[in-house]
Amino acid sequence: MNIILLGPPGAGKGTQAHRLVAERDMVQLSTGDMLRAARTSGTEMGKQVAAVMDRGDLVTDEIVIGLIAEQLDTNTSGNGFIFDGFPRTLAQADALGDLLDRKGQHLHAVVEMKVDDEALVSRITGRFTCSECGAVYHDVTKQPAKEGECDNCGSHDFTRRADDNEESLRTRLMAYYRDTSPLIGYYYAKGQLKRIDGLGEIDEVAARVSSALA
Ligand code: AMP
Repeated sequence: MNIILLGPPGAGKGTQAHRLVAERDMVQLSTGDMLRAARTSGTEMGKQVAAVMDRGDLVTDEIVIGLIAEQLDTNTSGNGFIFDGFPRTLAQADALGDLLDRKGQHLHAVVEMKVDDEALVSRITGRFTCSECGAVYHDVTKQPAKEGECDNCGSHDFTRRADDNEESLRTRLMAYYRDTSPLIGYYYAKGQLKRIDGLGEIDEVAARVSSALA
């Protein structure tokens, strides 16, 4: 089963993707994580995208389609892919369709996570993640059970994203509404869209994701 989690920054795509990985043994393909990894390891591409990402703009279709194509070629384990933060433009959506076709695979569903804009701002500005396993926490709504220790893997190392500030968030939201939101109509027309309310406790939203996939 291959699915897309679609929604604005802060909608909870990464959090729900982690749940699906743990519960269904699916493989999360987050282009944001791949790009951040390229930056950390200092590749040419990583250097090229750094400023664009910090501003909150989209990197080129060519780069992210290349990253996904490589994963589809090499990553053959697991019970299907969760596309998280990809596709973000109509060109990326077409490219994903072609890549899956060529592999004889298809998309099972596109889950749109709906969250109002006010909630996105507070979710994003308090967000931090475990540097080891990527588990997502929040200053107000989801502190680790034991202060300073990841619930999932026990690491004491946490990071905050450089683009999780109000100014970048405004640009990221603009990019979402301008370039990504047309995908809602695109997948609706293909009969693949499932819309869920992304507000609420993580478990509640996870249950909605599950029923959307049933
Ligand atoms: P994310 O972790 O999904 O919020 O992505 C962080 C940043 O990486 C975005 O603000 C973009 O600059 C870049 N990025 C991630 N995925 C894509 C994509 N599919 N297309 C273009 N840019 C992307």
